[in-house]
Amino acid sequence: MLSVFIFVLGACVGSFLNVCIYRIPKGESIVFPRSRCKCGAQIPWFLNIPLLSWLLLRGKAHCCERSISARYFIVEILTATLFVIAFTTSDSLSNFFIGSGFCSLLLAIAFIDIDTMEIYDTMSVGGMFVGFVISLFFPEWHDEQSGISSLIKSLSGACLGSGLIFWIAVMGEMMLKKEAIGVGDIKLLGTIGAFIGWKGCLFSIFGGCLISTLIFLPSLLIWKLVKIKTFTIPRIIPFAPILVVGSITYVLYGQNLLGVLF
Ligand SMILES: [Zn+2]
Repeated sequence: MLSVFIFVLGACVGSFLNVCIYRIPKGESIVFPRSRCKCGAQIPWFLNIPLLSWLLLRGKAHCCERSISARYFIVEILTATLFVIAFTTSDSLSNFFIGSGFCSLLLAIAFIDIDTMEIYDTMSVGGMFVGFVISLFFPEWHDEQSGISSLIKSLSGACLGSGLIFWIAVMGEMMLKKEAIGVGDIKLLGTIGAFIGWKGCLFSIFGGCLISTLIFLPSLLIWKLVKIKTFTIPRIIPFAPILVVGSITYVLYGQNLLGVLF
């Protein structure tokens, strides 16, 4: 019963993330005005229910029959699922809220990066400072007893994470003779380090690449087999989604994964 409530909560947060993903790159407020269709008609609340509305309307707007991207649905169900997993793997309520909140921020960053190849400082640098404050006041998030040692873990995670990716970027640029990793990714690893420390950063980079390859290659094969012509392999692959896949995996299963590896 509680899981159903957590799932619904996650779907609502996912719905809010959709608003952020759509509006933040445009520099619009994420609070006002209420949601509108592309035709300009205001969307009434009963047609704006997470997951259900999209299913009931079968992806078509009620006012003008415009198709509504399946991505709205995907972001909502993804967030809802992450919330339920975070709830079952967290050992305390505060850790659940921190974990699911961090995953939500990462999801928004990843989808905005896919859309615009841009990571916004308000989210990455802002998120990093939120990570410091949370670490100070909720030491159990880092498995620490005192706020100070927890904050040190967070600060060192941010510095080491950013530093590591910076040097990977420098070497990548030397080898490829072009920019491989952007400044946005360096800042994003600061955020990731602030929340999950240097081990989490390492896992986000290498685990993220591994998991993304494991997801990407089979899907590429399926696309080839079913011959979807509209799909073309992007020339530049945004790095943030790869880091986000790694970070979220670490938040949800990190302790177990590290236990298996070491
Ligand atoms: Zn419309």
